[in-house]
Amino acid sequence: MTLQSPPPQPDLLAALAGGIGEFVALRQDLHRHPELSREEHRTAGIVAGLLRGWGYAVTAGVGGTGVVASLQEGNGTRSLALRADMDALPIVEATELPFASVAKGVMHACGHDGHTAILLAAAKHLAETRAFNGRLVLIFQPAEEIGAGARAMIADGLFKRFPVDAVFGLHNWPGLPAGQWGILPGPVMAGIDQVLLTVQGRGGHGAAPHETVDPVVTTAHAIAALQSVVSRNIDPQDTAVVTVGSIHGGEASNVIPDTVEAKLTLRYFTGATQDILEARVPGILRGVIEAFGATADLTYARGFSPVVNHAPEAAFARRAVEGLFGPAALIDGFRPRTASEDFAFFLHERPGAFLILGAGECAPLHSPRYRFNDAIIAPAAALWVQLARDFLTGDAQ
Ligand SMILES: [Zn+2]
Ligand SMILES: [Zn+2]
Repeated sequence: MTLQSPPPQPDLLAALAGGIGEFVALRQDLHRHPELSREEHRTAGIVAGLLRGWGYAVTAGVGGTGVVASLQEGNGTRSLALRADMDALPIVEATELPFASVAKGVMHACGHDGHTAILLAAAKHLAETRAFNGRLVLIFQPAEEIGAGARAMIADGLFKRFPVDAVFGLHNWPGLPAGQWGILPGPVMAGIDQVLLTVQGRGGHGAAPHETVDPVVTTAHAIAALQSVVSRNIDPQDTAVVTVGSIHGGEASNVIPDTVEAKLTLRYFTGATQDILEARVPGILRGVIEAFGATADLTYARGFSPVVNHAPEAAFARRAVEGLFGPAALIDGFRPRTASEDFAFFLHERPGAFLILGAGECAPLHSPRYRFNDAIIAPAAALWVQLARDFLTGDAQ
């Protein structure tokens, strides 16, 4: 790829903004009718219907409820995939929006309704203007929130049935300036592992602790000792997170329970850090728990790996942002996020990059008060169009 940026396209921004009302309405409709992972039937139906209407060849049911649309223009041999995720979360919405969820206990609290609307807005514009030369492949992925959808689509032959030269995706991000982009080479979102722990002691009367093996005191010491993993085992230049997000044991103040259960989430950006976490976290837990005379029943589950952007594709996306919005639209000093994304699996299969898009001030992702910012739909759709045009013109190589 050259370092040449294509000329700025102010008309493109205006064109997308002009027709965006349809996609804001669609986004709010998807928000009103959220669907959990693997249950995105209504959403997938709407997506497939619109894409067919715009002239795409649509394949539904890829990896469950996934939808793949492709469009060949001209004789170009390059092909590009753009991905959006479609699923919602098991959260009781607390936004009081007029289009708040009508599905009890289900909420689009991660903005996947917005990601879907963004990619559809770009899809319509690209189909109408056909200002590219090659094959465009649009991936509407299910089940991101449970880390299953990307793997399911790949296992269903996604990239064999729809070969592409590169794949790009994006995620909106509350707390970063609206419409500004965070694009880095290398790790951009963390890998995730999980630990499920049961501390088995021997319960008894709260007034006679010497007759028990107290799993509450044992677990408290084990959790305190865990804090040394990040501070004393991980290179200070690296990043790791050890969070005990759930701990349960006992019911009454005067009863020492038999067991305490805890759940941990671990985050990291490199395989070497993951190896240290996998060795030290269970090691410290078992050591402390056994020192107190209790036993540890422990499961360490590797989750999904960090999202690691390929350097040429990250640079390509940065140039597309600069070409469309100017260099000031790239967030200065942007740093990787410690959340996780199953887009990681697409980047194991094909070159590509995952872009972070600032959404402005609002409650964080996965909060019951999170609100997707509709103002970023048009500029984000314009960026997808720009990226597709740049990638699918032979001179961008
Ligand atoms: Zn999420
Ligand atoms: Zn998400």
